Amino acid sequence: MSFSIRSHVLHRDGAPVAQARTPNVGGPLRSPTLLVMHYTAGFTAASAIAALTGRAKKVSAHLVIDRDGTVTQLAPLNVVTWHAGPSSWKGRKLCNSFSIGIELVNCGPVLERADSKPNKPVLIAEVATKKIMDPKDCARLQHKNGEGTPFWQIYPEEQMEVAIGVARAICETYGIKDIAGHYDIAPTRKRDPGPAFNMLSFKSAVFGRDDDERETVRIATKKGVVEKPREELTAKDLLAAGSETIGAVVTAKRAVVAGGLVTVAAGGTVATEPNETLTQVQTTALSIADTAQAVSTAKDSVSALAGVGHWFATHWIVVVVAAAVVSIGVAFYYIWRAAQIIEQRRVRGARTGENIERLS
Ligand SMILES: [Zn+2]
Repeated sequence: MSFSIRSHVLHRDGAPVAQARTPNVGGPLRSPTLLVMHYTAGFTAASAIAALTGRAKKVSAHLVIDRDGTVTQLAPLNVVTWHAGPSSWKGRKLCNSFSIGIELVNCGPVLERADSKPNKPVLIAEVATKKIMDPKDCARLQHKNGEGTPFWQIYPEEQMEVAIGVARAICETYGIKDIAGHYDIAPTRKRDPGPAFNMLSFKSAVFGRDDDERETVRIATKKGVVEKPREELTAKDLLAAGSETIGAVVTAKRAVVAGGLVTVAAGGTVATEPNETLTQVQTTALSIADTAQAVSTAKDSVSALAGVGHWFATHWIVVVVAAAVVSIGVAFYYIWRAAQIIEQRRVRGARTGENIERLS
């Protein structure tokens, strides 16, 4: 599924989406700077399209996205439609003149019917109180404008996936960097698209995470972990985070090797096995160092990097203690084995008379 725009018409996988032209349009829409998301306050795309293309209500939008992801275009994207009403955004009034409007089929607020039992609420749509709602289709959510309605109809995944794809194509084609809900541009009049529409994750899905101005990254520095906005990060910060990470891991590596030496000392005369153990421990240490190297080169995943650095900075003692415990355990195992072999030889010697002198 891919969306593109040719001659201000939305295409899905190379073919134009369904068109149902509305007469409710204004003049040309020159260089739109805002995308406005709405819900239809209804149950079907057909009823929404009928209302948005009928002359009676003098309302329209550019696109309608049904709950199954079917898209219908009502007007070319370079023509003003009437979706915003009295509104303002960042000091500019009448948002229709600089925005593209998308309607998502969703009935909005859902109420508990008065005769509901507490353990088995009967849910009804606010826009059609005879309509019983499937509880699986509703979520208990708080509107950011303080709206007290207990439930809201959810947006299905199919619909959201399409909405994200469409919004991405629109924002890329027209250079739009702003998305708002109708509730943002007309907060005293409008509640759509409601709290079931997750505006934050929608925006980051459309623009990618780099767009999120509030996103901060944790950097492990010699002074401790500090938080910095992503766009303020410098190459020096990245290197500082990397070197701190490697520093902690190198300390852990030294401790692991020291654990190997403990094995040699405790193993005493037990043939060559301790050297093998030491080699294994050193290999482990090297692989930890390799991991540190891999982590330090994964600089595009800055937050993961800082997170790992922070983890090692605070948990390296766990690695050291675990390595020492394992090494000592291995040493005791070989001592036990050696004792067993010696005992076997003694018993065999006694049987064959090999060490008869000692027995006599
Ligand atoms: Zn609206």
